[in-house]
Amino acid sequence: MTGTAQRCDAVIMGGGLAGLTLALQLKQRFQDIDVLVLERRRHPVPHAAHKVGESSVEIGAHYFDTVLGLKPHMDGAQLRKFGFRFFFSEGRRDIDQVTEIGASRYLAVPSYQIDRGIFENYLAEEAVRRGVRFDDAALVRRVELAPDAEAPHRLEWTRGSETHSAEARWLVDACGRAGLLKRKLGLAEANAHDVNAVWFRIGERISIDEWSDDAAWRGRCDPQARWLSTNHLVGAGYWAWLIPLASGSHSVGIVADPKLHPLDTIDTFDKAMRWFATYQPRLYDALDSKRHLLQDFAFLKHFSHGCRQVFSGRRWALTGEAGLFLDPFYSPGSDFIAISNTYIADLVAHDRAGRPVEARAQLYDQIYHSFYESTLALYQDQYPLFGDPEVLPVKVIWDYAYYWGVLSQIFFQQRLTDLMLLGSLKDELQHCQRLNLAVQQLLRSWSAASARRNAPVMLDQAAMPWFAELNRSLKDPRLGDAAFRARIRASAAQLRQLAGEILARARADNADLGDCALPSLLEENIAALPAGAQAGAMLFAALPNDSRTRRLPNFTERSSPVAPRARP
Ligand SMILES: Cc1cc2nc3c(=O)[nH]c(=O)nc-3n(C[C@H](O)[C@H](O)[C@H](O)COP(=O)(O)OP(=O)(O)OC[C@H]3O[C@@H](n4cnc5c(N)ncnc54)[C@H](O)[C@@H]3O)c2cc1C
Repeated sequence: MTGTAQRCDAVIMGGGLAGLTLALQLKQRFQDIDVLVLERRRHPVPHAAHKVGESSVEIGAHYFDTVLGLKPHMDGAQLRKFGFRFFFSEGRRDIDQVTEIGASRYLAVPSYQIDRGIFENYLAEEAVRRGVRFDDAALVRRVELAPDAEAPHRLEWTRGSETHSAEARWLVDACGRAGLLKRKLGLAEANAHDVNAVWFRIGERISIDEWSDDAAWRGRCDPQARWLSTNHLVGAGYWAWLIPLASGSHSVGIVADPKLHPLDTIDTFDKAMRWFATYQPRLYDALDSKRHLLQDFAFLKHFSHGCRQVFSGRRWALTGEAGLFLDPFYSPGSDFIAISNTYIADLVAHDRAGRPVEARAQLYDQIYHSFYESTLALYQDQYPLFGDPEVLPVKVIWDYAYYWGVLSQIFFQQRLTDLMLLGSLKDELQHCQRLNLAVQQLLRSWSAASARRNAPVMLDQAAMPWFAELNRSLKDPRLGDAAFRARIRASAAQLRQLAGEILARARADNADLGDCALPSLLEENIAALPAGAQAGAMLFAALPNDSRTRRLPNFTERSSPVAPRARP
């Protein structure tokens, strides 16, 4: 490379969600750090029709509003999400006559619907305000990694007809699916999860609340604002998303297992509309009159991907989709950004303090990959059961109990980088991971035996005290080490109890358990775990003696309006 190169402490290639938030986090941690972000697109970027990745969940939301201190923007310029909501509405127009899973009121920890255009414009402005150098319309073209432990990395980019270069101690690839370092180093790794997605934005609200005139159905939620949820319209092998954006548009997408819904049946707007007419006719009706408001359309084939390594002691790292990405069913993209950015900021901190980072980078890489593996299990081979109104509600509760009970606790309690503490909980964490794998396997077997009854009820997550409390517990102030260990152990015990209930219920349905690992796992004696987690049943009322009389997973069915209460 030629010419005089700029010198920086860190260059971040790609100024999307992952790159810009990392720049803010680095600047927040070290006032004097010199960070350069290079972004291919010219700013400001358009609102609404910009990128996918619009629904956040608790870890990502906490990262934005609390860790990065962006609460005023999240509250003032984005939408507060009314949780997840799932409707078994395949082939139906009568949404008030199908099973709904969701919360009747807001739970304690906020999450947001994010208009990515508004957010990225704001993040870039905020980064500049905090002292980050941000170059838009800057296309990175060449990268040379440092040849030894002390030499800088070098890179070259063009901006219009000009060519620029820089030397950096740290180099981070946040280029999204362009994956510059991943390609250069041959790090791409396929995973066995095969799903495709199509999406578009429509320039008007889709108000799912108005899909029924039934006052009792509307009154099941307070506020009566289901449109603020990430609404999933589910069926065997697919889910369709509805996400409202602060700009006034609505994001709509379909994610499907190609074995059940091939991509070439949905890969244009007209095809997607024909598909909706068959599979989700009520949504088709809502969209049909808004065709002229279509703002964009895109699709992505086989988007789930892994990556052999994301953090290196040689002072490079990958974050966001440049590294790995799983599946948007539970919107984990921002969570993984929050986690990888936190690891990168910590590696930079150790390096600035003159400590070696090689071994630490390896361990962070292992932990990050273990989060990826356990999250992958939630999705892989599970799409066929998405159309099951009896088993999917149970899966959603399990998946949330696992997410809030383990990974979220580690993040909210700021223990991601505490290797000693995580090491001391290795057995408990591995046990939770094995439980999760076994429960996912069990859910598949159970669904094969399920009668898939679709009753007109709302399964209200907010009415399960332990579930609402698990969510609330994320807001607890930082615990001491002993209390944190006790909390993870209590989560493990709670998961065991829940797994036991799910197993009993699947057995009552005569599910063929085959070589399911769960029964023997539940018999394992884990000495450190508290004996009784929860008084009474967590999910199901007492099991009926005669399983044939059972109609539904009977957790907290709500068929009447909720009493109004103050909004948090
Ligand atoms: C179908 C689908 C739905 C999703 N839904 C969700 C969701 O609801 N919630 C969620 O949290 N996540 C979701 N995700 C994941 C989400 O896309 C990611 O969380 C997020 O967008 C990744 O951000 P990023 O910064 O890594 O990538 P991006 O936002 O794509 O940013 C990468 C940036 O790098 C720039 N760039 C690329 N090449 C170069 C270059 N050579 N030089 C300079 N700049 C370059 C690009 O212009 C871009 O701005 C979804 C993903 C898919 C596929």
